[in-house]
Amino acid sequence: MIPRIFSHSRRERDGLFSLSRRDSEAVKGARGANAAVAECEGCGSTAGAVSCQSIFDELLARDFSDAAYFRVHRLLVDTYSLQHPDRYCASAKSLAAHLTGLCALLERGGDRAVGVAALRTWLDGRPRIQRPATPRFRGRLTVADVRKARAPEAYAAAVERWAQSTWKAYSSLHRLARGWVAEALDRRIPIRSR
Ligand SMILES: [Zn+2]
Repeated sequence: MIPRIFSHSRRERDGLFSLSRRDSEAVKGARGANAAVAECEGCGSTAGAVSCQSIFDELLARDFSDAAYFRVHRLLVDTYSLQHPDRYCASAKSLAAHLTGLCALLERGGDRAVGVAALRTWLDGRPRIQRPATPRFRGRLTVADVRKARAPEAYAAAVERWAQSTWKAYSSLHRLARGWVAEALDRRIPIRSR
């Protein structure tokens, strides 16, 4: 059975990966028609935003075709999403999903392949949450670093390092994330009735 993955709204999937007009004009003006691709607005990778997305898509496809790689699937999804929040964490709910997801995996020993079901139950209960601002610096490692690791063991270790690095960059939201995870896992606050 393919585990349920948090789905993104259409707005979040839409093209926030393209360069802003101002950036495009600046690149053209400074470097001419053969301009190098600007760094990704999400993670800062100099491989470029389009490359980030294509690497992510490639890794996702491999997850679903090879169980050896699927072992860190949820860790990949949450980490990539937090590094590209304009696209994948636009709403309070989607940010909470990935933020609590990464927190539960790294600090609560959650299943790195499929995540933590109690978090999804909590989110489906429409908790009263507001979207905080995301940090501008989102970690030194990017999906481009992860792609270099080819064998499953090396790949899992690379995803773990990338996830830890990204989580550290989100330190301003650790307290909030831990509070949400506690709500979800410990059920100290009742879920609002629908
Ligand atoms: Zn990126």
